Amino acid sequence: MEFNNNYDISLKDINNASLNIKDIAYRTPLKKSFILSQKLQRNIYLKLETTQPTGSFKVRGAANKLLKLSEVERTAGVITASSGNHGLAMAYLAKELGIPAVVCLTEVAPPEKVKKISKMGAEVVIYGRDQDQATARAQRLALEKGHAFIPAFDDKEIIAGQGTIGTEILKQNPSVDTLIVQVSGGGLMSGIALACKSINPDIRVIGVTCEKGAAIYESIKAGKIISVDEPRSIADALTGPIPKDNQYTFKMCKELVDEIIPVSDSLIEDAMVHALLEEKIILEGGGAAGIALLMKIEPSKLGKNVAVICSGDNVSPEKVIQLVKKNRRNCCE
Ligand SMILES: *Cc1c(COP(=O)(O)O)cnc(C)c1O
Repeated sequence: MEFNNNYDISLKDINNASLNIKDIAYRTPLKKSFILSQKLQRNIYLKLETTQPTGSFKVRGAANKLLKLSEVERTAGVITASSGNHGLAMAYLAKELGIPAVVCLTEVAPPEKVKKISKMGAEVVIYGRDQDQATARAQRLALEKGHAFIPAFDDKEIIAGQGTIGTEILKQNPSVDTLIVQVSGGGLMSGIALACKSINPDIRVIGVTCEKGAAIYESIKAGKIISVDEPRSIADALTGPIPKDNQYTFKMCKELVDEIIPVSDSLIEDAMVHALLEEKIILEGGGAAGIALLMKIEPSKLGKNVAVICSGDNVSPEKVIQLVKKNRRNCCE
């Protein structure tokens, strides 16, 4: 298959992002899972973005964006709206780079994430019941106060930053032929799919999302951007709307992704338990969705060497322990 780049972002931007962020985001391990490899009769590798500062890949895109701001923009400060990990990464980087930051969160953002963000030194504004309202608030404040508004996913620099995961995986293991990537707003997927398909157009890129409230997935099915409800899900990082004026991620996901498969909350819980007990890693719901997909996918859809993104670990350990206990009761009583 040949790869035509119809986008405003290219592999070159992703390679530039790698250089740009190298002192602030880590090159994360690509660790073979012995037990999943045995189960699926394929080599299964876990890309441990949980080892990033702040526990998710969001630091890659946010760092690339912030490092490209002008001196004037930096001094004026930045503002964002994020249900969690993007806000956390922004707060962390703002502190590291000495840029004042405001983070708008919805009333339903998990309390442990809210606490972490304000502890890092960002100003937190809680506003609205859903992401659209929090975003509108952030954009208004940006105008009023002269801050630069930093989107969570639909932005060239953010997408290029997340894409560095793709180039990194293929450097670590050039024989990877299948990727499993979470899709919510689509920044992570757009970047990784663009990186990997530019290098090898035959690579299969499979998206995973939750069953309800998955904006890009529902929009691709509908053929246009539609709004979705924000039901509570164990994978809070995977729910939420995409703004109607989406410029990049909808098109890129629609054209670059081979297939998007939803997984249920209960399968995600099983994956979180598996991650702790068998892989010895803590994953939040969104972070475990890739492993959840491996628990239900027809193995023939996978190639021989599969990389699964473990995208984040921002969940309280108590919550995971609770799931382990529930799981033990289910299987042993
Ligand atoms: C943000 C996030 C995602 C989804 O990324 P998008 O770019 O919005 O698609 C997946 N997992 C975790 C842990 C996240 O924080």
